[in-house]
Amino acid sequence: MRLSNSFIPTLKEIPSDAYIPSHQLMLRAGMIRPLGAGVYSFLPLGYRLVKKIIEIIRDEMDAIGGQEFHLPALNPLELWEETGRAKDFGDVLFHIKNRPLVLAPTHEEVIGYIASNHIKSYRDLPQIWYQIQTKFRNEPRPRSGVIRGRQFLMKDSYSLDATWEGLDRSYELHAEAYKKIFTRCGLRFFVVGASSGAMGGSASQEFMIESQSGEDTCVRCDNCGYAANLEVAQSNVAKPQRDGQSNKLKEIYTPNVRTIDELKSFLNVDERLLAKSLIYMKDKTPILILMMGNDQLNESKLQAVLGADVRPSVPEELKGLTGADAGSIGPVGLNDQLPEGTRFKIIVDKRLEGANNLISGANKNDYHITNIDLQRDVKVDGYYDLRIVQAGEPCPSCGKPLRIVNAIELGHIFKLGTKYAESLDAYFLDEDGKEQPIIMGSYGIGVERIMACHIEQSHDKHGIIWNKALAPFHVHLILLNANNEKVVSTAEHLYEKFQEALIDVLYDDRDDVSPGFKFKDADLLGMPLQVIVGKKNVDSGKVEVKERETGKRKLVELGKIVHYVEQYIES
Ligand code: ATP
Ligand code: MG
Repeated sequence: MRLSNSFIPTLKEIPSDAYIPSHQLMLRAGMIRPLGAGVYSFLPLGYRLVKKIIEIIRDEMDAIGGQEFHLPALNPLELWEETGRAKDFGDVLFHIKNRPLVLAPTHEEVIGYIASNHIKSYRDLPQIWYQIQTKFRNEPRPRSGVIRGRQFLMKDSYSLDATWEGLDRSYELHAEAYKKIFTRCGLRFFVVGASSGAMGGSASQEFMIESQSGEDTCVRCDNCGYAANLEVAQSNVAKPQRDGQSNKLKEIYTPNVRTIDELKSFLNVDERLLAKSLIYMKDKTPILILMMGNDQLNESKLQAVLGADVRPSVPEELKGLTGADAGSIGPVGLNDQLPEGTRFKIIVDKRLEGANNLISGANKNDYHITNIDLQRDVKVDGYYDLRIVQAGEPCPSCGKPLRIVNAIELGHIFKLGTKYAESLDAYFLDEDGKEQPIIMGSYGIGVERIMACHIEQSHDKHGIIWNKALAPFHVHLILLNANNEKVVSTAEHLYEKFQEALIDVLYDDRDDVSPGFKFKDADLLGMPLQVIVGKKNVDSGKVEVKERETGKRKLVELGKIVHYVEQYIES
């Protein structure tokens, strides 16, 4: 492609509303332009890359037996009401104003609809159906360029199986395909166990890259490779020892002491002896949650235990219940003073399991109770892992210190189970002629996130550094002396030769741009090799080759340059 008549509007300055490298560089390299919040036009260079990525994904999806669909973005609202997700997605779901239609943010509903009409027997299963298509989500905070858009491309696939073992197999096939896709794209990624959240279902894993720009938080162990989303991460943090003897309960006067830190310094005791109370509500049921000291409650873990609709209580609700403020609530005698029919559910973080001689609120402002033995003094409804892992805590697998990192999610695989089949009436007859719901899995990859993540991982202050797999062009051919006939004809000749050899070449043949500017553009656009055709070298039958990644330069004989580039691409 000739730069002289291409539309690649590069920018010298960093756009003021782009804060992360991939966003800045995609704008500067003329790959994308914003049209509205979270909505981008892909310009020719950016779209070339989209197509490259799609090709890699398609290749690996076909290799696991995936069959490609193209499903409509316009979906009947009714279908989304059948699964209850019109409500679950809330404002994230785009609604069409003049018809009962929505813009699909994902396609479980349509897949289930097709399956319900056409999959009749176990003989029709298993199936892997996929598509690479535009999704719409009214993200409340679109940002980071194409990483979180309101319109974006997703490869979404769905497995349909007759058995749970079949689902395991389909899930494994996807996990392997995803590893191949991200490896081929040259990404340094890691895989984490994740919470399945609003999707419902059991197992789920996310494919992540570490990045300061990431909105996800993950825990990683560099020693053994343990990795998990912070929402579900665990650690081997030490538990307080149970004292040999539980002392007698005692009420202590703690005027104006509200927080754990205040209590710790007021009593001058180890934080491990303090049981912090948090009050949540599920419907009308109040829930007391006990955490050790300053341990933070992980709301995702809490939701996994109590359901997604659990929420923090508001002060007015507390007042009516216990007569004490939040800072003075505790598990002992909590339910004694409640009206008939109301009862706190008491759940405790596993770290406090078996603990005794603890201090907690007395359900009376300005008082605490000490020497609490959870086994003796409290009717605990359950012990669960509820705490947020902190950096430096021991890895649950190997005991080495954990790191906490920001990350960007590239892809997500879920075992959905039968939830969608049941709500969409997608049943098949098993070998015994019995009706069974189809067992589904759902798997997604963000196409734009692959390109943005590659740039996040591979750039310098001059611009993008494409790897060979994703590079929109292999070679950036630069004509330096556009007024010298011999140099021009040499560059033109090379341009032709590269094309004949099926090497993707971007040719900077512009005659109104200075060499310095051409070099800057070449570094910004980031093709792996630059072939520089200038008078001095042409006179001695050579061209200069610069590798973008290392900056290494080399003189290569004109007659050997095509072969040199071919070898470089293949290596
Ligand atoms: P996130 O937590 O980042 O919002 P998600 O859990 O909503 O992601 P999924 O519903 O699992 O994402 O979608 C599958 C894939 O689609 C994600 O792994 C991600 O790569 C991509 N994706 C999701 N939302 C967006 C978005 N708003 N813009 C671009 N890509 C997205
Ligand atoms: Mg999302």
